[in-house]
Amino acid sequence: MAVVIDGKQIAASYRETLKKRVSALRARGIVPKLKVILIGDDPASHSYVRGKERAAADIGIDSQVIRFDDTISEREVLELIDSMNADDALHGILVQLPLPKHIDENRVIMRISPDKDVDGFHPTNVGKMMLGLETLLPCTPHGILHLVKTQTDLVGKHVVVVGRSQIVGKPVGMLFLNESATVTYCHSKTVDLGAMTRQADILIVAVGRAGLVTKEMVKPGAIVIDVGVNRVDGRLVGDVDFEGVRDVASAITPVPGGVGPMTITMLMHNTVEVASRG
Ligand code: NDP
Repeated sequence: MAVVIDGKQIAASYRETLKKRVSALRARGIVPKLKVILIGDDPASHSYVRGKERAAADIGIDSQVIRFDDTISEREVLELIDSMNADDALHGILVQLPLPKHIDENRVIMRISPDKDVDGFHPTNVGKMMLGLETLLPCTPHGILHLVKTQTDLVGKHVVVVGRSQIVGKPVGMLFLNESATVTYCHSKTVDLGAMTRQADILIVAVGRAGLVTKEMVKPGAIVIDVGVNRVDGRLVGDVDFEGVRDVASAITPVPGGVGPMTITMLMHNTVEVASRG
């Protein structure tokens, strides 16, 4: 029976180290500051942002959420980002995605100064990550890396990533490659997904489809990281059949309480990093 990787507890202990760093910064007169732009009324986005506000308050980061209804124009959003980029007392800028259709997400992401891009989505930061340089890393992939490192060494391990999105799948594979793991990417066009996933020492699933990965698709002893968040009959579940897969895996993340808390924690980590640079 697999160990259940307690993302909540691992995140809580990481946050303790962040609290100490924030106290030291505050003693030097630096208050880490994060601003979140939230547009529209998507309930999931509002819930994620509340989680970020709570984590910031807990750690001692000064956070502010600026809310707009979805009639705001792209130009107004870009001008707001320009003013935030110019604010020397502000360390982190986050625009909660998804954005309404009339606003170009790429244009918005690229307008944020790479130095304040605490989501780690700006091409400059993505490029630095690709080169293995120190930079602001994307939060979910960074959180996954931290979770897996609590379980095993990475050198030479075969990591199979299911999903190739810009925010999770692609970058998480890159982070593991930088750690000298062997990485295979799968996606919706992959032929015989199970044949790929059965090779994984570490299986990372980021698709958004409940029950996609069953126990027959998992090698005995694998570490399974379930990134998916799906609402089924009013309940949150991942992409992995948790009850079945925990019989064969050596470790598995639950949903909720696995990757999610680490994502928010790494956002806090990035904000503290930027504040520490000053
Ligand atoms: P996207 O929708 O952007 O990407 C989904 C990926 O899954 C795509 O690459 C797609 O392939 C692939 N895919 C779709 N169907 C299949 C299939 N049948 N077999 C194999 N691959 C498939 O999603 P995100 O990466 O943004 O998010 C993935 C999930 O993770 C979602 O449930 C999301 O809610 C969750 N999430 C959780 C976070 C957390 O902190 N816990 C943070 C971010 C996301 P293709 O490219 O070919 O279309």
